[in-house]
Amino acid sequence: GTPVREILRRWAEHIGRRVMINGWVRTRRDSKAGISFVEVNDGSCLKNLQVIVDHGRDRFQEILQSLTTGASVSITGVVRRSPAKGQPVEVEAESISIVGSCDPASYPLQKKRHSFEFLREIAHLRPRTNTIGAVMRVRNSVSYAVHRFFQERGFYYIHTPIITTSDCEGAGEVFRVTAQQDPEFFGRPTYLTVSGQLQAEVYALALGKVYTFGPTFRAENSQTRRHLSEFWMIEPEMAFADLENDLALAQDFLHHVVSSVMSECDEELQFFSKFFDEKLLERLQTVAERPFEVVTYTEAISLLKKSGENFTYPAEWGCDLQAEHERYLTERVFNGPVAVIHFPRDIKPFYMKVNDDGRTVAAMDVLVAGVGEIIGGSEREYRYELLLEQMKLKGMNPEAYEWYLDLRKYGSVPHAGFGLGLERLIQFLTGVPNIRETIPFPRVPGYAFA
Ligand code: ATP
Ligand code: MG
Ligand code: MG
Ligand code: MG
Repeated sequence: GTPVREILRRWAEHIGRRVMINGWVRTRRDSKAGISFVEVNDGSCLKNLQVIVDHGRDRFQEILQSLTTGASVSITGVVRRSPAKGQPVEVEAESISIVGSCDPASYPLQKKRHSFEFLREIAHLRPRTNTIGAVMRVRNSVSYAVHRFFQERGFYYIHTPIITTSDCEGAGEVFRVTAQQDPEFFGRPTYLTVSGQLQAEVYALALGKVYTFGPTFRAENSQTRRHLSEFWMIEPEMAFADLENDLALAQDFLHHVVSSVMSECDEELQFFSKFFDEKLLERLQTVAERPFEVVTYTEAISLLKKSGENFTYPAEWGCDLQAEHERYLTERVFNGPVAVIHFPRDIKPFYMKVNDDGRTVAAMDVLVAGVGEIIGGSEREYRYELLLEQMKLKGMNPEAYEWYLDLRKYGSVPHAGFGLGLERLIQFLTGVPNIRETIPFPRVPGYAFA
């Protein structure tokens, strides 16, 4: 079959041609003149292709009753100029085969708009809606742009383990892995990875520049609109690099991905801006071209303190930035992406490089309007003694991280990297209110479908 996207994109060339389309019926309207108009969607684009079914001389009479919303069809017909408004072409059916029928009385996807809450309860059918279909095409485009970006810059794609022995972030939000038959399977406690960073560092210190792009898991027991229990993280790591190089990489990365999606998914983004946020394209444009505003954490706290805003959680030096603080910084102070750097040592994980002041670490959080933190990165502590001190301060057992400490003993080099959540990025790109709509099968506390 020919994708509908292909036919509509280059419709003039298709006029007069015979095509076959494979898809699902969205609606059917019957006219008094013995003609039915069937809207078919094949998932290749938002638009449906209108098929004209002329049942004069009793043609198509038998299949007409099966040609209902939700049925899958293979239709062959000739493309012709459409007299209807809003579409350049339509297909005049010559043969129709109902591949799988669909009982309209029980099919949950009716023509009206359904709430996202309802759609999550039918996660196996929701990709057939305009919004979820469009989000998943954007997700595909982002994923491909991610690989293109790193591959073009000489980064090696490495696969870090899903089952690990460490809680990289030290936040205690790990899922334990145990074998059904044998809880002692590995002889030591193991977890689902919360980040591939520690293992990516190993490979950066051998191959130079690497990235991982895979699933990560966090048992955060909260119901927010920007956290999932399972999400995909993009984590580059560079040897012989510092925080400044890391910031530059993050900036180039966002420019590349946002502008790729803007050019490849124009139809989808137009749709999202109409439904979710009329300023969407404008916001994306600023991220696609504007350099980050860079402020230190200390400056950010003083901006928040003198804001006069009545925050639920007042900003004080030493506190982590809350969603409300991130919103204020990205939407009220700066009009675009902001990189906050040099956070207090006490609120960040053990692996970040301690600055000369002894109180802060060489960290960066990149914040954008709408979703807040999108990237968390840092220069890593590459000095053996200081790393050991950090581990002890955080109450960790250095023996469990011997391999990680070893890297600081044998040919250590300054290195840096970041982590970016794919779903956060998609939430930002599409404007969908809840991150649960950015992943095919969301997992959050209390909910895992399929
Ligand atoms: P947050 O402050 O939003 O909880 P974090 O600081 O805990 O994020 P990091 O450990 O810095 O997150 O992870 C790097 C990136 O991964 C974040 O900037 C974000 O884009 C993404 N991320 C983190 N946790 C989640 C989650 N539970 N669901 C989806 N994306 C996440
Ligand atoms: Mg978190
Ligand atoms: Mg954070
Ligand atoms: Mg972070």
